[in-house]
Amino acid sequence: MQNPDKHTSISFELFPPKTDKGMDKLKATVTRLNELQPEYFSVTYGAGGSTQERTFATVDWLREQGIATAPHLSCIGADKDEIQEILERYRKQGVNRIVALRGDLPSGSGLGGLGELNYANELVSFIRERFADHFHIEVAAYPEFHPQAENARVDLDNFARKVRSGAHGAITQYFYNPDAYWRFLDDCQARGIEIPVIPGIMPITNYHSLARFSDACGAEIPRWIRKRLEAWGDDLDAIRDFGTEVVSQLCRNLLDGGAPGLHFYTMNQSGSVINICNNLGIRAPAP
Ligand code: FAD
Repeated sequence: MQNPDKHTSISFELFPPKTDKGMDKLKATVTRLNELQPEYFSVTYGAGGSTQERTFATVDWLREQGIATAPHLSCIGADKDEIQEILERYRKQGVNRIVALRGDLPSGSGLGGLGELNYANELVSFIRERFADHFHIEVAAYPEFHPQAENARVDLDNFARKVRSGAHGAITQYFYNPDAYWRFLDDCQARGIEIPVIPGIMPITNYHSLARFSDACGAEIPRWIRKRLEAWGDDLDAIRDFGTEVVSQLCRNLLDGGAPGLHFYTMNQSGSVINICNNLGIRAPAP
């Protein structure tokens, strides 16, 4: 379903909360964000057993509310039987969209590393082989390149492999430089890749955690943004106001240029996402 105001397809990522209090907060967030009529909510999944039960519990709750849900599923460190079982579970629940990932093993997880499926393209092939077209499969894309990729060309080859394996769409790592996205699409087009590549959008609400996370995942915070955020220190209101303005502009640029939708990394918070969506003309329909 698309938001009726602007026909902009939006979706929201959640992470599975660790506590009952966190779950209550997630439920309140989902209730508010659902008024914007997203296409679906996705739920992250921790490789190596760390948060898997919590992902199932979150997916269970969303499905009980009748909300379209796309669980993330990572393959690193898992065996095929385990993955098959999870997919069967989701199929029974009426889930028909999956975000298929390699994942990262948590450091110190004690797992030897690789399982039976080592890269996301192998997981995509497995899902298609066992479940044909039941699941709409989204994969990850990296306009600023995956931090472990040998080089940009090899990373694009790997993305092309995921698409050839049967991915229906892709969601990008977040970025703040739209040129990285447009250039990535040009590279995809040159390789004959035609699936929709939805920009992943990270609202800016807290500089320190964003900087830490960006370093780890290889997303660049441009200097003109970083310097301003640094200068505000602990003034979270100023950071949020500036972040909302910058990210709204980014989204406007992306939509005006023809991006096929927006996928928000909500961090289980609704405020900034709603403000950004409202700035784009995406609002809850009048009762
Ligand atoms: P892949 O596409 O398999 O790529 C991983 C790396 O290996 C890349 O450097 C690639 O260039 C290289 N590579 C791929 N295939 C080959 C090959 N055949 N030979 C050699 N090198 C190869 N992580 C989680 O743990 N849980 C989540 O829920 C989660 N959700 C995410 C959602 C999105 C939208 C994004 C963008 C990321 C998410 N991540 C999640 C993070 C993701 O798991 C990590 O970025 C991980 O390191 C790579 O996963 P991938 O699916 O992109 O891997």
